[in-house]
Amino acid sequence: MTKTIGFIGLGNMGGPMAANLVKAGLRVAGFDLVAASCEAAKAHGVGIANSVAEAVAHADAVVTMLPAGKHVLSVWGELAAVLRPRTLVIDSSTIDVDSARKAHALLAGKECLTLDAPVSGGTGGATAGTLTFMVGGANEAFVAAEPILGMMGKRIVHCGGAGAGQAAKICNNMILGISMAGVCEAFVLAERLGLSHQALFDVASTSSGQCWSLTSYCPVPGPVPTSPANRDYAPGFAAALMLKDLRLAQEAALASGATTPLGAQAAQLYALFEKLGHGGEDFSAIIRMLRGESAATP
Ligand code: NAD
Repeated sequence: MTKTIGFIGLGNMGGPMAANLVKAGLRVAGFDLVAASCEAAKAHGVGIANSVAEAVAHADAVVTMLPAGKHVLSVWGELAAVLRPRTLVIDSSTIDVDSARKAHALLAGKECLTLDAPVSGGTGGATAGTLTFMVGGANEAFVAAEPILGMMGKRIVHCGGAGAGQAAKICNNMILGISMAGVCEAFVLAERLGLSHQALFDVASTSSGQCWSLTSYCPVPGPVPTSPANRDYAPGFAAALMLKDLRLAQEAALASGATTPLGAQAAQLYALFEKLGHGGEDFSAIIRMLRGESAATP
């Protein structure tokens, strides 16, 4: 039974995830390069280490939650030098499939049990312990990790071998980026045609236009009171993070030869939106740019 976790990356997601492991009764030794993130985690009972090596010195399992592939490869490289054989290592960052596979390979010589396990659910899900984990790796590793992932999330899906979790994550988020752009365009067209937001919502939410971007994250205020549009597009899911995931999807499409013209278009739309200074807004705020609102255009 796992008792001690080394947790590397205590940022917006990693901090609350580590706190939930403490709440579930595990000992957690954490490390982050940013002192403020360490302090915040410490307040939730996470023991703070001075280095990656120190954080994992007594670990039965290790979780990494880092910005991008290069950070994961660097930290997993450090792990390779210090971990005991057969330690369970889980990366929950969202990174490119190629780096995820390389990370698994880095620890293969140690016979570690390795998983890529990116999440959806955002900081709200991380805090509430209701994340969805999309998991790639060997079955033995998945079985060993399930109880730990269950302390931080509600739904855990084994998607396949090394890299399959990251593949599922970017495919899902490519659907999300494309569908949000489509829903926003429909509301902009409805406005020009004199159709009310509520009327479009009432029809599309119960017709073939129904999708999560419409019924959970409706990009206009009113029909879905909890959607970011009702709080001036405070995220939610920031447009910059959507752009990151759409770019990862495009990298994977290029590398694998998949044809994804709408994914490419969505990546371009979000790149423009970010360039205009809106990366910190919820990704549904792209409706403002599509309307040509002056605050969202050059
Ligand atoms: P964040 O920037 O808040 O946290 C990342 C942390 O990693 C930072 O505190 C940084 O200091 C730390 N770090 C970087 N290199 C390090 C190293 N070598 N050693 C130790 N710590 C190091 O980012 P976040 O929002 O927590 O996101 C983490 C990952 O989760 C990203 O890959 C992101 O795409 C993904 N994600 C985020 C969300 C979200 O809503 N924020 C949702 C789903 C997935």
